[in-house]
Amino acid sequence: MQKSELIKKTMTILFIGLILLSCNNSQDQHVGQTTVSKWQGNKKSAVSITYDDGIITQFTVARPIMNKLNLPATFFVLTGKVYGSEEGRFIGRSKDDIIRETDLIKTNADNFFERASLIGFTGPNQGLMAHSNAGSLFESGKITEAYKSIDEAYKKLRNGNLKDTDEVVYHDNPQDTTSWDDLRKYTAEGHEIASHSITHPRMAVLDEANLLYELEQSKMDISKHLGEEFTFSVECPYGTENERVMEYARSVYPALRNRMPETYLDEFNRSSDQDPGASENEYVQWQRGPLTNSSMDLMKSWIDKCLANDNIWLVLVFHGVDNFGWEPKTAEELQDYFTFIKEKENDLWVATFADVTKYIKQRQNIDIISDVEDGSISLTFLSDLDPTIYNVPLTFKTYVPGSWKSVKVKSNDKEITTGLEINKDDRGNYIIFNVSPLQGKIVISASV
Ligand SMILES: [Zn+2]
Repeated sequence: MQKSELIKKTMTILFIGLILLSCNNSQDQHVGQTTVSKWQGNKKSAVSITYDDGIITQFTVARPIMNKLNLPATFFVLTGKVYGSEEGRFIGRSKDDIIRETDLIKTNADNFFERASLIGFTGPNQGLMAHSNAGSLFESGKITEAYKSIDEAYKKLRNGNLKDTDEVVYHDNPQDTTSWDDLRKYTAEGHEIASHSITHPRMAVLDEANLLYELEQSKMDISKHLGEEFTFSVECPYGTENERVMEYARSVYPALRNRMPETYLDEFNRSSDQDPGASENEYVQWQRGPLTNSSMDLMKSWIDKCLANDNIWLVLVFHGVDNFGWEPKTAEELQDYFTFIKEKENDLWVATFADVTKYIKQRQNIDIISDVEDGSISLTFLSDLDPTIYNVPLTFKTYVPGSWKSVKVKSNDKEITTGLEINKDDRGNYIIFNVSPLQGKIVISASV
């Protein structure tokens, strides 16, 4: 290499270095860096207010209180008791054959699930109680006792001490006139309607045919009457965490309130006394079920716990309201509690079970490509999730040049937000904005 050429090259390298240095002033070195906020709206935590069993007063008493405060709920309903749906039935061999066999063959591992499935449909209350009792024993590991309880129930049935009728009984549900038209109206108000099965069985003791029927037919009825959007979430009755049930349920519904084993999510159920604040995980789904004697102070302390941490998703599980349903809370208590939650809304993201599940999943499954050029920042999003289902707007934080006084965000040449507030932290100036990650390329620039 000639000496003059070497000097030229060295000068060029120095020159480029100078340019890089001047650009690399401490304020702007993070320009373009983009992250998704942990919770929508860049809030401290999330709360989902959920109701189980589709009890009439949840809709007529609790829902209007929430509507006035503009808070969304998730109602896990029993589709069987909504007129126009399949009301639930036993799927399988002839009932008489099964009953006859119980006189000849004792209940064992081979016939238990079939018998436990059928007994729930052998008459009002008594049959259902025999089914629930067997389920409860089975799930607490008392397998022999569960078999024995089934033998006793069928003996009563054969002797006529348990009256066999075709009536279907729904768990803890007084007469209820809620229709699909009503439920559709509630979804239009911003609430989520989700599945709590057809009849509220102990799914852990159902055989495959009946288990799938309870999951799939419930989904089909919701889809038919409310649309696919509301076939996202399910709560399998009695908060079961039975692994066999969870596997079937996960094959039918994307989101289970019972259990969603994701590496980024700890799940503390209603009976857990683990401290969600002590979890090191990215997210904790913390379920709390207010009972009749749960004090207002205790219920408010759950909200305070959320605000003192950044990783808690509080999932409240309500049942009865006023005079109806299991462990009812009064309208006055709900009014007081929901008003308290509303007052904290600057820091709390209150959203349906589906929306929070989707947000977390979308955030965990997104790659952001950021390009800084010609005075603008362009962002491209990559994700494997189905955009027709995972469509909750994400909240982004993007660093912008210190010289920008005002910022606009465009999506496919359409301005989606303008005049954004510019904030500052120790990495530089940044903006916070919400956008559905499915809107193609996002371009951020100074608005003047
Ligand atoms: Zn229930």
